[in-house]
Parts: sequence; structure tokens; C-alpha cells
Amino acid sequence: MVDRLVNSEANTRRIATVENCFGGAGVPLAIPGRVLVGEGVLTKMCRKRPKSRQFFLFNDILVYGNIVIGKKKYNKQHIMPLEEVSLEDIDDCPQYRNGWLIRTTTKSFIVCAATETEKKEWMAHINKCVEDLLKKSGKKPVEKHAAVWVPDAEATVCMHCKKTQFTMIVRRHHCRNCGAVVCGPCSSKKFLLPQQSSKPQRVCTSCYERLSNAVKQESAKISSNSLNTTTATANNKDTHNNANNESSGDDDSEDETNGSGNEQHDEPKFYGDSSILSTTETNNTAHVNSSHN
Ligand SMILES: [Zn+2]
Ligand SMILES: [Zn+2]
Repeated sequence: MVDRLVNSEANTRRIATVENCFGGAGVPLAIPGRVLVGEGVLTKMCRKRPKSRQFFLFNDILVYGNIVIGKKKYNKQHIMPLEEVSLEDIDDCPQYRNGWLIRTTTKSFIVCAATETEKKEWMAHINKCVEDLLKKSGKKPVEKHAAVWVPDAEATVCMHCKKTQFTMIVRRHHCRNCGAVVCGPCSSKKFLLPQQSSKPQRVCTSCYERLSNAVKQESAKISSNSLNTTTATANNKDTHNNANNESSGDDDSEDETNGSGNEQHDEPKFYGDSSILSTTETNNTAHVNSSHN
């Protein structure tokens, strides 16, 4: 169990090291009850191309950053609360090997591990942490996740009108609802996606119509009451799924020194339960394991 690490000196030391590596580029990470469960390098599918990112799995958050100097200096810290995280397995394909989807309400993207075993380890540990956390808080898993962005390179023409050709001047845009790569005219409208931002976000024309219709239907239902405002609690199940699984996140900050491509691979380290693979390997979600001996 991870719990036995809570007040351990080793855990305190490891978290302090992570804080030091981020330096001024990060927030303090040491809080009571927090445990560093694992760390390692994963390849994150970004908008322009795959990039190496250092990931840190805590028992309540998942943190990643750009690698400035391996094991010494990271920047561009991102923190994702595990309560919002859900994973989805991805089969190997020409673009991705050992990959899976990390979804949150504000951001969803694909990461790949170096080997199948490492992928299993990461997924099992993340799933276990999410499960434990939700059990403790009594909350339900989040159902609405941000769309996965289709990488720029996968669309040479607008995925909506199928006409506009992208060039240096004709820029690509991403629909925040479905993740499609679309041209300016096909994404001229904005819509409030409350789980992503308090401001209306760029959406493609189809999503705009679908979302507005859903809101209209919704407000027609409750029209006997006071008129609803424009909040988009639309009933649009899984509209992001039509972006199909081959896409990426929106974190596209450039690497400073990591472009040489000659880094050697280090296996990820996990500090908690090493038998996690055997106990949680079967279907991960919402499955109370009646473990055999
Ligand atoms: Zn278009
Ligand atoms: Zn869309």
C-alpha cells in the first residue's frame, strides 16, 4: 500500500527533490498526506510532434514537465488532479506503441511508454491511485472530459469543410469540443464549455450547432421555470469521440535542450506496491477485484 509511505522520510526526501528540480517553475508539492508513487519519462503526443516529458505520479495529483536537464531540472509544470483523471487503453498502431489516453476535464492527450510492461505499470498505478482517491472522497468519476486534439500533421485540409488547405498563412485551429483541426471560417463561433473554462471557447460549426440545439432542447424542457441562462449543460454525450483516438493534447511548448534525441532510457520508478500488476491487471475500471491466490 501507498499509505505506509505517508510519513516516511524517504517520501519526504523524494518530494523535496521533485520540488527542487522544478525550482521556481513549480509550486510547492509537499502537503500532509501526499505520497510520491512513481516517476519516469513518457512520450507525450503534442500538437506538433511527440515529446519527452517527465511525469510524477502522486497519490492525489499527476504532474508533468518539460525536461531541461534529465533528473535535475524541469520546467513548464502541469498539475492534474487525479480525481478528474481517467485512462483509456490504446492498441498499438503505426503512430503509437505502448500508448494510452489520459483524460481530464480540461485536457486530454496520449502518452506512450517505452515498453509494454512499463505501460502496464503506469496504467495500473494511476488507476489504483484514482480508485483509492474516489473511494476516500466518495466522489464519482468525472464523465465529461476535454477533447483530444488531432495533431496538426494529420490534417492538411480542414476536417470540417474539407476544402481549406492549410499553409504557413492559413492557420489550423482546434475545436475545443471535438478536437478536430479546422479552418478559421469553420470555427468562427465560440461556445461556453463550463468544464474547460469560464470563457466561451472556439468550437467548429457542427459542434456549435449541436451544442446550441442541445441547450435549446434543455431550456425548452424547463421553460416553465425561470428562463435559463446560456450555460451549456448540454446533454451531449461523448461528442468528443468523433475525433477518434489518434490525436494529442494542446501543450505545445517547445523544448529548450531536449531536442538532441540521444537520451538513454531509464525505467520508471514506483515506490509503492510492486505487486500492483498482478492484482489490478484485469479490466481496470470500477471492478472490485476478488483476487485469487
Ligand atoms: Zn473549413
Ligand atoms: Zn467540433
